[in-house]
Amino acid sequence: MADCTHLDQIRDVTPSGDGCVECLATGGVWRHLRLCLTCGHVGCCDESVNQHARKHAAATDHQMMRTFEDGEDWVWCFADELFWESIGDIVR
Ligand SMILES: [Zn+2]
Ligand SMILES: [Zn+2]
Ligand SMILES: [Zn+2]
Repeated sequence: MADCTHLDQIRDVTPSGDGCVECLATGGVWRHLRLCLTCGHVGCCDESVNQHARKHAAATDHQMMRTFEDGEDWVWCFADELFWESIGDIVR
């Protein structure tokens, strides 16, 4: 396992909602959703126009996120650009 110093940022979070927080507030559109594993913020992916998940990570220093798409549970660390195929590989 590659080095990631952010694993302790992972909490048992409750998703903020069914869509990107900022896009819902501004009427924006997203492609895919990402869930912040520190606070439960739902934001849109890097393929979305506004990239709110990445902006959330930059603004809050919450580096760990997972996909919020049905049937997927991969995890990404923004700071280290590290990928895990399943959150089960990290948290059990
Ligand atoms: Zn990391
Ligand atoms: Zn968004
Ligand atoms: Zn967060």
